[in-house]
Amino acid sequence: MHYEPLLSVVIPLYNEEKIIDTLYSRCTTALNKWCSSYEIICVNDGSTDNTLQILKQYHERDKRIKVVSFSRNFGHQAAFLSGLKNSTGLYIAMIDGDLQDPPELLEQFFQKMEEGYDVVYGVRRKRKEGFFKKLSYKLYYIILNNISTIPIPLDSGDFSMIGRSVLLQMVEIQEKNIFLRGVRSWVGFRQFPFEYERDARYAGETKYTLKKLLTLAYNGIFSFSQFPVKILARMGFVVIVISILYSLYALYTKITQPDVPQGFTTLAIAIFLFGGIQLLALGIIGEYVLRIYDETRNRPHYIESEKYL
Ligand code: UDP
Ligand code: MG
Repeated sequence: MHYEPLLSVVIPLYNEEKIIDTLYSRCTTALNKWCSSYEIICVNDGSTDNTLQILKQYHERDKRIKVVSFSRNFGHQAAFLSGLKNSTGLYIAMIDGDLQDPPELLEQFFQKMEEGYDVVYGVRRKRKEGFFKKLSYKLYYIILNNISTIPIPLDSGDFSMIGRSVLLQMVEIQEKNIFLRGVRSWVGFRQFPFEYERDARYAGETKYTLKKLLTLAYNGIFSFSQFPVKILARMGFVVIVISILYSLYALYTKITQPDVPQGFTTLAIAIFLFGGIQLLALGIIGEYVLRIYDETRNRPHYIESEKYL
């Protein structure tokens, strides 16, 4: 089958007006070197600055720049998803808009695809980010990898290139709280981890607030692991064993020392401890219930208000 263009590059953008010029020149310069035909799909995720206006100007001048604009901010993952669905290329690359993922590397990604891989994904060898952020990322990926039902490669982000057949499988997934890097690993096929150094953000501030980052982290864990809910049963089991042992001990002292009043401290500790454990358990179950609710409500991932394709 003949596909036009050869490559689609999907870029989510949220208030990135300072970056677009450099993004455009670096992407086009890098792609012109090797790629016979390409399109760059910029998804404006409800920016409140001039991102959309600037993108539209680029589209006027260069029709390879395509623009999809959301009616409000729906998040980075939703933006990628929309870009994937709107792409027409045989190969599809996903890169962040802040130039942390060097577009120059796409040539090498493509070579790997030609060697027969279906997915090439970036693995961050070094991160030029703060100590705390690096440490939390590391910990998070180690935990996620250990508890998830499928292996999710350590330190891999969304930076990747996939073939159209993989894309078709990925966009079939209807999950609402979508965690693309998990889905990309989940679909299987021949995958190649490509090590690279992640640059620092080119300009502006991170658009991932702590809250958004935590939501993403949560999605990874709750969508790809049954560990939280399974640990509840195990905790329950341990608690039962402990209480049986303790009851035996209490009975024993009751018999041997009938006159000594006992139990207040133990009682207080037990009430608070188990109150806490039960709330935690309810919270974890609630998280899964919420997800069921989200899925059944079946709202779209995003709303596209303007499109220049
Ligand atoms: N982004 C987006 N919607 C959001 C948050 C971020 O489209 O709600 C885009 C952002 O413009 C950037 C990319 O997603 O192109 C990655 O975001 P950012 O660099 O701020 O995240 P970080 O690298 O700090 O985790
Ligand atoms: Mg970034």
